[in-house]
Amino acid sequence: LSQLFRPLDMLGWVYRTIRQGVIDMGAMFDLLDTGAEVRDVTGAPPLVVDRAAVRFENVVFGYEPDRAILKGIDLDVPAGATVAIVGHSGAGKSTIARLMFRFYDVQGGRILIDGQDISKVQQETLRAAIGIVPQDTVLFNDTIGYNIAYGREGATEEEIANAARGAAIGDFIESLTDGYRTRVGERGLKLSGGEKQRVAIARTLLKNPPILILDEATSALDSRTEAEIQATLEAIERGRTTIVIAHRLSTVVHADRIVVLEEGRVAEQGTHAQLLRAGGIYAEMWARQAREREEALAAE
Ligand code: ADP
Ligand code: MG
Repeated sequence: LSQLFRPLDMLGWVYRTIRQGVIDMGAMFDLLDTGAEVRDVTGAPPLVVDRAAVRFENVVFGYEPDRAILKGIDLDVPAGATVAIVGHSGAGKSTIARLMFRFYDVQGGRILIDGQDISKVQQETLRAAIGIVPQDTVLFNDTIGYNIAYGREGATEEEIANAARGAAIGDFIESLTDGYRTRVGERGLKLSGGEKQRVAIARTLLKNPPILILDEATSALDSRTEAEIQATLEAIERGRTTIVIAHRLSTVVHADRIVVLEEGRVAEQGTHAQLLRAGGIYAEMWARQAREREEALAAE
């Protein structure tokens, strides 16, 4: 009987842990062992990243059999380019990030990196090639140095400090009495939302992936902190193939291309200027958000 209860205990534990904000998405998926569904084919070769071009070909996916979330997505992210994915909440933006990381397999079509179908290569090599900065970074109850190095075993203190500087949080950490040995999390130093995002950026810099996914990386921040973090993010996008997922459009104006997702399909795509001129969904979202920004300013 205890066998029967264990999954429930596990879920309760996972839930409490997430609530406490001490675990991150990758670790959570490890815990839930989605690897049970997503397996390497026997003798799968490693992913060989050359230029890091990403391509979705007619990708179909749903979490439940009778409810498709992505209904045939074609997406081209040229090597080194920044492509933004925008759309209303629930449109399937984060699902695209999860599929790239292969937390799930697609049900139709394929996802290619430099021409290799990601469902046919070793998962470990796929995940090593992609860095994700999520909306909310949750920290482990450990030192700030450990939190930066998480995911890269054997990082030296110098590498950790370099990554922290690249994320513009090095000076802050070095000003603390215990420096990189300062404990953070619920029983340690509480970091602000902006500081936590900088830890996530430092973690990503240390991983140094050729492909970067920013999933609403600044949407939980106030607008001033957002602007500061935004500048750091744009610096780390250089030289990497980047997918920026955003609800707030002010963060994607600089993208080489913006893709508007609606009802599981690509509804529009183009540069910011092209989409404004087209006067469609994007232009309408932009106008609404501009109005909201003005109202927020007026209310201050
Ligand atoms: P977005 O990031 O654009 O807000 P998501 O990709 O997170 O949207 O979700 C798209 C849709 O899929 C939503 O309707 C959401 O409720 C549903 N969904 C997300 N994750 C799951 C899941 N694990 N199981 C079932 N449905 C899910
Ligand atoms: Mg999302």
